[in-house]
Amino acid sequence: MGTIVGERSGFVIGISLCNAGNHKILTILLRYPAISDISALRNALKKNFRSMFSFAKRVTVKNTHAEIRWTYSVRKPGLDDIAALIDQFVQALTMNARPFDGRCEDCGNVRTSELTLFNDIPGYHCSACQQRTISDRQQQSVEYGGKSMDFIWGFFWAAMTGIGCALVTGLGEYLFDEHGKLAWQVLIAFPVLTGMFVGFAFGKRVGRLDLRTQGVALFVLVLACNWLGEVCYGTLYLLRTYHIGFTAQLPAVVFRNLMRYRSTPDGAIIQAVQLLGAFVSVGFARLQRPNFRAEFVSLSEAKLRAVAPSAGALSIL
Ligand SMILES: [Zn+2]
Repeated sequence: MGTIVGERSGFVIGISLCNAGNHKILTILLRYPAISDISALRNALKKNFRSMFSFAKRVTVKNTHAEIRWTYSVRKPGLDDIAALIDQFVQALTMNARPFDGRCEDCGNVRTSELTLFNDIPGYHCSACQQRTISDRQQQSVEYGGKSMDFIWGFFWAAMTGIGCALVTGLGEYLFDEHGKLAWQVLIAFPVLTGMFVGFAFGKRVGRLDLRTQGVALFVLVLACNWLGEVCYGTLYLLRTYHIGFTAQLPAVVFRNLMRYRSTPDGAIIQAVQLLGAFVSVGFARLQRPNFRAEFVSLSEAKLRAVAPSAGALSIL
């Protein structure tokens, strides 16, 4: 809905508010020049935030910025609460971080008074450093594009992970089911977790990620692993319920019946969840690709109005 960016005691502070369904999320971004040890600052910020409010909230502290996310629905924080909170944050910052000193935060030499968004995060970057960052990232992107793709190796690790997940799924569902019925949480958790683990393993090991050529194989692999997990569960279920001995044909019979079961509403839901798991795997693999984006937007330009719709933003609260 809006973001306002300002400076307080030499620190840059951004406050934004957005809607997420029935909730609103207030995000407070605190920017400081890079610090090497963040533990003291993290403790100070978390201590402050915990003592004041009982809303759902999250504090993340990185070496160049901290972000406080505050999710609320009914009880909305008042302007006074927010102002008091920011005072406390600034106090914690002055004790644990240096303020900006009017120079570029990258080279520390060139006087830079103009706020610039670097990949949406406000800070002080002189034009030479902006150019250098852009060309560095371009260079890294080119180097990444030239890296060898190790598809077999990546696929091997993804398959090993997927088979492991399938066995855990079979056993887990077997342990959690009640008279052959699985709770929907269980039904969703295993395929989605499988997707996350397999996607992560693939992205980590494949060398160069290119999902246009690799995505389909990954998708099919995760789907196959989800089926394998289901077959494991079905087989275990039959062994337990009918006290029959295990034969090599049993998993094949289970698989054929599961595929037939797909035409029923329950079967279709299970298939939909498994497809979701396969999509999740592609997303998680994508996250392993380094980000080469370097976008600078000067806050003094006309774009300021789009980014920071003046002081009116806070009144939306
Ligand atoms: Zn610079």
